[in-house]
Amino acid sequence: MHELSVAESLLKIIKEEMAKHNVNKLIRVKIKYGQISAIVPEALQTAFQVLTADTPLEGAEIITEEVPLKARCRVCKREFTPDPDEFVVIYCPYCKAEFGHEIISGKELIIEEIEAE
Ligand SMILES: [Zn+2]
Repeated sequence: MHELSVAESLLKIIKEEMAKHNVNKLIRVKIKYGQISAIVPEALQTAFQVLTADTPLEGAEIITEEVPLKARCRVCKREFTPDPDEFVVIYCPYCKAEFGHEIISGKELIIEEIEAE
């Protein structure tokens, strides 16, 4: 399960942040994940529960928010939202260019907020 290793690396960052701020009870974490980051939020929640069980981080609330896919056309430079079911060839809705679009959002995985005390 891919989410388990994702949760592991997120927890590593969260623990480092908490150590920096001298807090040890995790209350809430807000995570933003891209539409094509291959994250299943339910699986990520479960992975967090498994990894934090019997640790000081147990019971924290994990909030996930999806970031929609957005691309910028290589030819006309306009931004558009590709149809998520058409990943292989994405047509620019303005100039019909097919290839080389730059994905500007939708692939990310970010910790947006950590609340701890
Ligand atoms: Zn275009």
